[in-house]
Amino acid sequence: MTADSVDLLEQSRLVLTAHPLQRIGAYATAALAGDTGPEELPAEDFERAVQLMTRQAINAALVRDSKAAHGFWLKTSYSINPNSPMNHPSNGKKSADSIRTAIEQWRSLPDPRTWPGVDCVLCGRAAVGFFGKLDVPLAESDAYRNSTPRGHAGLALCRPCLVSFHALAYGSHLTGGSCYALHSWDGRFMRRTVERQVDRNKMIAETGKVSDSYAAAREVVAFRALRRYGERLTAGVELLVFNNNNRGQSLEIHALDQPLAEWLRRTLRPANRPGFKVLVQAHASARLPGVVALARNAFTEPSRIVGAVAAHLGRLVALTDRDREQVSSAVGLLYSFVTEVMQMDAKDLAELQSTARKVAGLLSVEESGGKLNALRACMRDPRKLRAWLTRHGVRWAMNRPDKADGPLVSERAFVLLFDPAQDNPGWFHRDVFLIGVLEELTRLGWRSKTAEEDLQELDDSTDKEFTEKMEEEQ
Ligand SMILES: [Zn+2]
Repeated sequence: MTADSVDLLEQSRLVLTAHPLQRIGAYATAALAGDTGPEELPAEDFERAVQLMTRQAINAALVRDSKAAHGFWLKTSYSINPNSPMNHPSNGKKSADSIRTAIEQWRSLPDPRTWPGVDCVLCGRAAVGFFGKLDVPLAESDAYRNSTPRGHAGLALCRPCLVSFHALAYGSHLTGGSCYALHSWDGRFMRRTVERQVDRNKMIAETGKVSDSYAAAREVVAFRALRRYGERLTAGVELLVFNNNNRGQSLEIHALDQPLAEWLRRTLRPANRPGFKVLVQAHASARLPGVVALARNAFTEPSRIVGAVAAHLGRLVALTDRDREQVSSAVGLLYSFVTEVMQMDAKDLAELQSTARKVAGLLSVEESGGKLNALRACMRDPRKLRAWLTRHGVRWAMNRPDKADGPLVSERAFVLLFDPAQDNPGWFHRDVFLIGVLEELTRLGWRSKTAEEDLQELDDSTDKEFTEKMEEEQ
């Protein structure tokens, strides 16, 4: 390619492409140098970001010890740019000058005469070379380790796209092993989230200190980002877990659709803390902290959240006044989950709630929790639940001769609870029904006199966990 035909200014202008990792890196580049989004970043700021990253790569390489306090970028470079001049195995024997020169060369704009004369595969502008694993976390297979496929020189990339991949580390939550990064088509969310991640990584690199809470499970990292974001999400959110390390290359993508991501974001806001605590308690087990289990359900099988909370609320039959607020907050969150995420028709929800209120009315005259427990036991077996409701439905009809309240279970509610048709998730509707029963019992102030001590214990452990897992690291 001749010098006249190249547009050098284009090679200092970031473009957002369809590649999630490139996009994360583009936002990170912009966050490093300026106060704008990637596509508004002036050329001089872009160059400043490149220089900053080159300088930090050199400083990290010269530490030579990835375990040293200031070896953060060196340690994490093995996960993103293995075999690069930053961390080449022969660096131990090389002079500081030769390491510096090699890194500067690696990160500088290649001479236009060496450009391949093809388009960047991501943005269509002139590519400045072909790039493989050393610069770009590539394929998932070990077969591609250390190289691109045989006979193929790699990805044709322009410089801004290449620089975006170099900046990916700044925009990712780095552990030294797997890297976690969040991606969304919601540009505002991306900008805020990546800016925060860049700031946090810079601080860790400068101070050499990693707070305990930084070492969180990947799903919790996603939860924290959602929790901090104060505006409505306009798109879904993906959690990318990747590692470009020589020992094991991987890429996993866990997606939250927009309704679920937005519901989680709101649920995680401080105003919903009482209800969120119940959601966490419901998921806590000896094996897994509640926040992590809740997050895993959200990422893999969100509809299970309602069932887990229903089972938990059922255990909390000894509700104190203080807990009533938590329960109604949790139930409010679940109802919004049912209509917004599971997209249940509001009329259908009302049918189930009406049945649940009547059933709770029957149970509330009981002295002990025995009958409630019997109902809960029936939940596992639709035939038994149906028999239970039919039996009580007859009594209900006999005691209410004016029929003003209608039957205990309406025709529609029966269909929702028991129709085996594929498009009718009866098991889910039964969970929603149970939530409604427990909600009404709580509202009526019905309680058994036992289990308060257990409840306190649960509370204490969740408070501790919430503080440990969800509070922001500074
Ligand atoms: Zn490009």
